[in-house]
Amino acid sequence: MNFREYFIEYENCLLCPRKCGVNRYRKAGFCGETAKLSVDSILLHKGEEPPISFKNGSGTIFFTGCSLRCPFCQNMQISQNPIDKKFYNLKDFFYSLDKIVESGAENVNFVTPDHFLPHIIEGVKYLRSKGIDIPTVYNCSGYQSLESLETASEYMDIFLFDYKFADASASKYLLNLENYNVVALRGLEFLFKKKGNLRLDANGKALSGVIVRHLVMPDFIKNSEEVLNNLYFSFGNKIFISIMSQYSPKYLKIGYDKINRKLRRDEYEQIVNLARELNFKNGFIQDYIYGNDQYLPDFNEKNNFEVW
Ligand code: SF4
Repeated sequence: MNFREYFIEYENCLLCPRKCGVNRYRKAGFCGETAKLSVDSILLHKGEEPPISFKNGSGTIFFTGCSLRCPFCQNMQISQNPIDKKFYNLKDFFYSLDKIVESGAENVNFVTPDHFLPHIIEGVKYLRSKGIDIPTVYNCSGYQSLESLETASEYMDIFLFDYKFADASASKYLLNLENYNVVALRGLEFLFKKKGNLRLDANGKALSGVIVRHLVMPDFIKNSEEVLNNLYFSFGNKIFISIMSQYSPKYLKIGYDKINRKLRRDEYEQIVNLARELNFKNGFIQDYIYGNDQYLPDFNEKNNFEVW
């Protein structure tokens, strides 16, 4: 098989709303990545939402870099400070996809995929060319261009889509972006039209559609309320939402004092209670656990992660 290794999209990169226009064959863009496919870890992830991890786990590929670069990123070690990049050519990438399928993974889960979308599409085409119809998951930040989502939606079955901020002042403070809310809602509108709500098989395994994720953050409870209200009024109470308590300030950049603490139980419960009041029918709610970072991955502890 001839592998197409040259991707014209990286020459003048417009893959995300940053629209840097850089030639990634010469230098990295805002996302921190060049045109070389860079992976930190690949593993069978048992901690995603139940229909995603299901019985065997989700075959998860963690790419390095990110076009959003949140100062509180829970995956900071790989999204912004990767110390152990592994560069894959397409042959390596296809080999990893084969290994994921052989492992019995329930799906292939591409984490922070935007800046490597051209490679990922080749990977999905490769699987489909072999007659493998394992579900594909686009696990993204909510800050995607409509063009990229249109392209991705042709190849992806499931979207795990973050909706982090509804409040422009919150996204201004934390991301230096006032338009995150507009971009995320526009993306969700497109995806619900194109892919629909999450669809499960008879056993409860995810086959296609959208799950909206929201990480509740300390001191930004009003933002979380706006997120839930916007979701309810835009898409109704039957959508699948995933409310997450796992925020940790462990990797927080300096200068963000407001969120330099853990989330309190009463803050989290306020948001969970609102979700119940709004009568969301399909939700995943993380248990609230204070005082440890049990959900926080340590990508520098390589024993925790397999790489194929
Ligand atoms: S994917 Fe990276 S290089 Fe491309 S526009 Fe976005 S931040 Fe810039």
